[in-house]
Amino acid sequence: MIPVNQPLLNGREKELLQECIDTGWISSDGPFVAEFERRFAAFIGVGHGIAVCNGTAALEAALYAAGIGKGDEVIMPSFTIISCALAAIRLGAVPVLVDVEPETWNMDVSQIEDRITPRTRAIMPVHIYGHPVNMDPLMTIAAKHGLMVVEDAAEVHGAEYRGRRCGSIGHVSAFSFYANKIVTTGEGGMVLTSDPEMAERARSYRNLCFRPEKRFYHTEIGYNFRMTNIQAALGVAQMERIDEFIGIKRRLGEYYRERLSTLNGIKCQVEKPWAKTVYWMYCIELDQKLGTAQDLMERLGRKGIGTRPFFLGLHEQPAFHDLGLFKGERYPVTERIARQGLYLPSGLTLAESQIDEVVMAVREILADNSAPLAKRCV
Ligand SMILES: *Cc1c(COP(=O)(O)O)cnc(C)c1O
Repeated sequence: MIPVNQPLLNGREKELLQECIDTGWISSDGPFVAEFERRFAAFIGVGHGIAVCNGTAALEAALYAAGIGKGDEVIMPSFTIISCALAAIRLGAVPVLVDVEPETWNMDVSQIEDRITPRTRAIMPVHIYGHPVNMDPLMTIAAKHGLMVVEDAAEVHGAEYRGRRCGSIGHVSAFSFYANKIVTTGEGGMVLTSDPEMAERARSYRNLCFRPEKRFYHTEIGYNFRMTNIQAALGVAQMERIDEFIGIKRRLGEYYRERLSTLNGIKCQVEKPWAKTVYWMYCIELDQKLGTAQDLMERLGRKGIGTRPFFLGLHEQPAFHDLGLFKGERYPVTERIARQGLYLPSGLTLAESQIDEVVMAVREILADNSAPLAKRCV
């Protein structure tokens, strides 16, 4: 079986974990937390890092830091993980959607202005599958309307937009260090911002909104979103190799692209001239005439190749319909790629010979089955 992902943990991870055990620093009160925050923030090019327990919590703390609250509207792409909408909803805010572009699968910035109302407070671009959102026009719209920009940079550790790293362009950003992310702490996340006041707000939210001058006295609702020293130890060890990891991702991504982007019936994410993608996951969109992604995934599975489907659009989630959100809304690109998209094995441990196997399997399935599949779809 070629797994869809596998973390690379053969640097100093074991040594630093051992140190946590030997010293007894296993909670969030340990030296690796601050060190990981400092290193990751410096790598992205931002002043402050606030480590939290996962990326979903990071998104919520980032919105809180940006001052988002009850009744505020946050514009975000329809094609993203549920975490983005949940972060807004938990703060009493309302997610408002725009569709994505067919080439990059990223938020279609040209649709944002139509969705702005007097209640709009923020835009949340989500850099998808390693490729940056077109940030300059988005930042221009945000400045014109006085909106905060909260980047979801969970999938783009080290990706660049016109030479600047994703997560350093908006007012505040959120990262995830889940096991399939480029830098991992198992579970984990971070809020980044260069604004000291926003950093303080995120820090407070992460720690139950304790008041520094009066402990156990609370004037605002916060949560325990703290990252442990054990997680941060992994993070510090991973940061020692981040440039290497990004190099591996780009090399594997380009190896895939050279072999798949020319196949009939397959579309790959296009790397824009202003972007440096990190190919977080190698993704393909299958032409509708050749069947659904589900079909292809099942067939690849039978050949021992791990895959994952794309996100289902936020507007198609029954949990949100129950809240009265997005009913009857349509986002055609999101709806299509949700059914036609999948990602292929993309882990840091993947060998080029394994990519050859994956590509061969995809080619075989397309060639053998394009006729019957096409018929079934009519
Ligand atoms: C992984 C991911 C998250 C959530 O991170 P968790 O650590 O799993 O909570 C948020 N946004 C995007 C785009 C992601 O890929």
